[in-house]
Amino acid sequence: MSMERFVYADNAATTPVSEEVLKAMLPYFREGYGNPSSIYQKGRDAAKAIRLARDKVARGIGAQPEELYFTSGGSEADNWAIKGVVEALAKKGKKHIITTAFEHHAVLHVCQSLRKHGIETTYLEVGPLGVVKAEDVAAAIREDTALVTIMYANNEIGTIQPIAEIGKICREKGILFHTDAVQALGNLEIDVKAQNIDLLSLSGHKIHAQKGVGALYIRKGVRIPNLIEGGGQEGGHRAGTENVPAIVGLGVAVEIATKDIQARADKTRKMRDRLIDEITKLPRTRLNGDREHRLPGNVNVSFEGIEGESLLLMLDLRGVAASSGSACTSGSLDPSHVLLSIGLVHEVAHGSLRLSITHETTEEDIDHILKVLPPVVEQLRAMSPLWENIVKGENR
Ligand SMILES: *Cc1c(COP(=O)(O)O)cnc(C)c1O
Repeated sequence: MSMERFVYADNAATTPVSEEVLKAMLPYFREGYGNPSSIYQKGRDAAKAIRLARDKVARGIGAQPEELYFTSGGSEADNWAIKGVVEALAKKGKKHIITTAFEHHAVLHVCQSLRKHGIETTYLEVGPLGVVKAEDVAAAIREDTALVTIMYANNEIGTIQPIAEIGKICREKGILFHTDAVQALGNLEIDVKAQNIDLLSLSGHKIHAQKGVGALYIRKGVRIPNLIEGGGQEGGHRAGTENVPAIVGLGVAVEIATKDIQARADKTRKMRDRLIDEITKLPRTRLNGDREHRLPGNVNVSFEGIEGESLLLMLDLRGVAASSGSACTSGSLDPSHVLLSIGLVHEVAHGSLRLSITHETTEEDIDHILKVLPPVVEQLRAMSPLWENIVKGENR
């Protein structure tokens, strides 16, 4: 089978480093190799590059530069935020976390691991549309609640959570609010002050910076324990010589991603809607997650009578790179916890496909997906005993 075209439709898993980002990073590998802690010119130049990057990232989310801490990515930021707040507040008897059932594993597994330290977690339901209700957050708050951690937008089904409403409730009740904004950054407006966010995680590689770099915003006045002890980097809170090229790249990536959000989102949304409209015309095919409160580039559909992994392999052969859940869960046979959280039964969850596009996706890319996907679905169903039973059930 010749591969005439390659369409990358898995931008929620990772994105390529953009030309602008790469260009900004390159000088810091060779000429600009100084240690930012050194006092001679080469060191000061590197320190200045980090300062500029911190300014850019801060500006992108409405924070002050000194409220930003560079990390190795979104997972590290999530871990630090949650463990940090809990460690700081458990001493004061606050041993309760509120989150949702469909967070990223970097949040869920942290909450699970804290159980053995006597920390209790409430996992709020997100309902069939995958949107948590702010009033459910309010109702779950207890005397001993230390932290509310709820993602801004879901990485699998793309649903957008009422972050500002939740932030307001938490601020009024004096409870710290963390949000994993890895998928929201560059797609939705973020203003940590207006939205009353106390801690926020972001990652570089979902917005065209490199893998292995991210940041945690910690509002001034919020004190959590240091993540790594050592030198004075990141205000002494996260020691270790800085990854200068990666941080420079992150700064540029955030600057680009947070400019013209509306225009890019409008363009992406149009292509996304075309995909959704066409794909859901197939029989026994459903869209997962709310259609309106949804990331501009996210399509997540389930095809009854199909096995998601086979679908991905067939699409790969036809030049389409997509995902069946989150990249971390594919390869395992457990259905996605996100799809189960919105009430899908196992068989249907197994037949799911996530396409994640950007404004750089083209109409021709969409044409290609819409050309190859329906025949693949039909072919797989023709071979599927599951599908045979479904059709028989219909005729009975
Ligand atoms: C990708 C992702 C992460 C993890 O970020 P890394 O930089 O890969 O560690 C966390 N949360 C969400 C919602 C993500 O999509």
